[in-house]
Amino acid sequence: MIPKHSFSQEISSYLISTVPEKFYDKVEEGSIILKKSKSLSFCKNGLRIDGQVEPLETDIVILGTGYKGDEKFKNIFTSRTLQKYIMGSASTTVSLYSEALIEEISDLVGRHPDRLTMGTFRTKNKGYHAEISVVTYARSTREMDNRSKFRILLSFGQHGRELITTELALRLLSILSDEQSMPNMDSKTMNDILEKLVIKVVPMENGNGRKLVEEGELCERRNGRGVDLNRNWSVDWGKKEKDYDPYEENPGAGPFSEPETQIMRKLSKSFNPHIWVNVHSGMEALFMPYDHRNTTPNGLASHIMKSMLNDLNHLHCEGQCVVGSGGGSVGYLAHGTATDYMYDVLKVPMAFTFEIYGDMEASSRDCFRMFNPVDLTTFNVPKI
Ligand SMILES: [Zn+2]
Repeated sequence: MIPKHSFSQEISSYLISTVPEKFYDKVEEGSIILKKSKSLSFCKNGLRIDGQVEPLETDIVILGTGYKGDEKFKNIFTSRTLQKYIMGSASTTVSLYSEALIEEISDLVGRHPDRLTMGTFRTKNKGYHAEISVVTYARSTREMDNRSKFRILLSFGQHGRELITTELALRLLSILSDEQSMPNMDSKTMNDILEKLVIKVVPMENGNGRKLVEEGELCERRNGRGVDLNRNWSVDWGKKEKDYDPYEENPGAGPFSEPETQIMRKLSKSFNPHIWVNVHSGMEALFMPYDHRNTTPNGLASHIMKSMLNDLNHLHCEGQCVVGSGGGSVGYLAHGTATDYMYDVLKVPMAFTFEIYGDMEASSRDCFRMFNPVDLTTFNVPKI
């Protein structure tokens, strides 16, 4: 029996690393049994795993393939024809999350040397290495021309499991390089604004943490050695709330103990931005300082920040985003965050944390779905 169309036309969601709804409830019930195996074969009653003599009686077998699932499915077959039926043509597959994002970004920069440049910072501590790529958008290569411009520093992917944020960095860079356009914005206005800006984009602050997520630790938000990079800064560092959970919020051995935070501090000190935005996912919100107190700072700058966030909320969020101080609006205080440091220590006049997407109805065990859209329509319409 040869199918009329390819497997990938039948089903595209298998390319997304997530599980069906209520999956974990069924695991707890015992009606779904999880087994890791290097090899398996089918027999009359069910399946044999890793050469076991006694077959496992099963009605349905779900193959959890991990990344590159389509490739793995294809390789089950030796026949070229059957392989083709699995893969279909390249245009039929919908791969939402790129596995080679930094390469894609580096290719994009290579196509636009007139406005984009890319550099990589590397550092290590006790055998732990980290590297962070930074893309700079500037219309003039002359340092003098750019010195008087307005400077914006944007960071994405500080938490490993928030994959969508790095996709947004790629989208933003595509817009800055004119490969994509911004909806509801004419290109002349856009051009005039961009002329006055120098923008530094950190597309993936936490590359080591992201690697863990790609290997299957879908709930991991910390760096490659278990430290939350948004608790490792010096403002009110190390203070622990009653509900402190080290899996989520481990602040590290001391302020700036982590190579990633050291790189980000160095970058922000030398660039001295007017605006800082730390882009996260998990909810839809526009935060300003403070994260470690439930109040906003006093003074004019704070007032301007608040009104900017209210405007943004109406323009891009249909008024649905949570707006205010991180500590006062998110439901818990956070100590040692990047945004509080930028505002309090580096005196960045406008310091924000944007939460660009969240699925509040997702099961708390289904981290991928909590932090990242899983269908194409939602993926293509970031709220902010
Ligand atoms: Zn986050």
